[in-house]
Amino acid sequence: MSHDIAQRITAIRRRLPEGVELVAVSKFHPVEELLEAYGAGQRVFGESRVQELVLKVGAMPADVRWHFIGHLQTNKVRQIMGLCHMIESVDSVRLLELIDRESERAGVVTRVLMQVHVAAEETKTGFEPGELLDYFAARKFESLRATHLCGIMGMATNTDDMGRVRADFQQIKGVFDRILEIAPDLRGFDTVSMGMSDDREVAIECGSTMVRIGTDIFGPRRY
Ligand SMILES: *Cc1c(COP(=O)(O)O)cnc(C)c1O
Repeated sequence: MSHDIAQRITAIRRRLPEGVELVAVSKFHPVEELLEAYGAGQRVFGESRVQELVLKVGAMPADVRWHFIGHLQTNKVRQIMGLCHMIESVDSVRLLELIDRESERAGVVTRVLMQVHVAAEETKTGFEPGELLDYFAARKFESLRATHLCGIMGMATNTDDMGRVRADFQQIKGVFDRILEIAPDLRGFDTVSMGMSDDREVAIECGSTMVRIGTDIFGPRRY
């Protein structure tokens, strides 16, 4: 099994085009398995639960860059300040402004992605596209002091219908492009995080710069 993780991650990285970053989504997998990926050269890991992230940060080498990819409750923001290289799943202005205040308080700058909701499932979180565009049109980001807006993250509908998946990714990329038109002076806003184990090829074709892969690296999650 462990040998497989190293092989799989190496094979996935080899197939990724230049300019597409791999986030190894390690949620629900034990530290030994993360270490196998680390041994194969992987440094960017994604986690979706605060408590699990905190434990793994303590157990893994210090040069790992952690991405938080799950729904972040406002009452847990303080616990992860300074631990994450990037929070990919900012899904409300309230959460963003709290991250900004807590980052300033902690003396850190937090890199974030705005999560946009285009999928059919109501359960998935994120800004509606129009809501996100309004945020940038109103230039509310100018008040951020300790947050670096690096781009957007999104998920496609969970379906075998690859036409639908492609349309979702095109919509996410369209929102990204529109934000840059609305606010061309945004600096370092260059990341489009989309694509998971089952749909990463389509996501890359649609302009992804960051894929988040769990199952194809670590196997099925044991919840
Ligand atoms: C779990 C998760 C992934 C990884 O999904 P796989 O299908 O296992 O590759 C990617 N993105 C987010 C936001 C996730 O929660």
